Amino acid sequence: MKKFGKVLTLMMTVAMVLSGCGGTSNSNDKKVDSESGLPTKVVVGTNAEFPPFEYVDDNGQPDGFDIALIQEIGNRAGFEVEIKNMDFDALLMSMSTGGIDMVIAGMTADEERKKQVDFSDGYFQSGQVMIVKKDNNEIKTFDDLSSKKVAVQQGTTGDLSVTEGDEKCVVDGVEVKRMNKGADAVVDLINGGVEAVVIDALPAEQFVNAHPDDIKVVVDEAVVEEYAIAMPKGQETLKEAVNKALAEVKEDGTLDKLAEQYDAK
Ligand code: GLN
Repeated sequence: MKKFGKVLTLMMTVAMVLSGCGGTSNSNDKKVDSESGLPTKVVVGTNAEFPPFEYVDDNGQPDGFDIALIQEIGNRAGFEVEIKNMDFDALLMSMSTGGIDMVIAGMTADEERKKQVDFSDGYFQSGQVMIVKKDNNEIKTFDDLSSKKVAVQQGTTGDLSVTEGDEKCVVDGVEVKRMNKGADAVVDLINGGVEAVVIDALPAEQFVNAHPDDIKVVVDEAVVEEYAIAMPKGQETLKEAVNKALAEVKEDGTLDKLAEQYDAK
């Protein structure tokens, strides 16, 4: 009997672990502050491959404008922030399974994503641009990418803007090469694997600044976007707290200061 009891306890423990009870940083077992109704800790997913918004610093830690912004929002709203770095196209999936609670990743608040997640108010206006070889005078607009080989970061709005059939597509007939990192797309361009890279404006500027003799940015205002913080649908208390803190940092000049500090202008 005693032995059977032990086996039963063990089986229950295994079942609890498998079902996610007793996990560590999982949204199922969040500690909630009884006064504010907010979680005491929020696990925020990012993809630290997108300077100046997020990158890995010299100490191997995620840093950047977005990271500083979410820390500031956490401080003001009263929750601790833990950053989790992962592939960009894994972020929303990870949030849907409770691996992370929020996403800040220079993520465009686009209509397709809004079907899956809620977004905070916007915090940064951006857009898609092209990067080409310095001596390329042929590619001046998105239309010029038709029938060309173009590299993008997989799962981004840059990817969608050249993917035929997608709502966001602005040019047909592009041969799209999807890479895990924007930086890899740029290396491929420099090595002659593709004729252009489509990527967000500020990361494009930073990549070009790192290789000024080889590549340049080409701007076509066709794709304008706004970055926002993604959260699971229906978490109104959390969303309100994030929006309130965001409104404060915009109002009191903190957001501008961070933009200055991280060269995100
Ligand atoms: N703004 C783009 C998007 O949301 C790219 C973001 C990124 O690569 N971090 O898809």
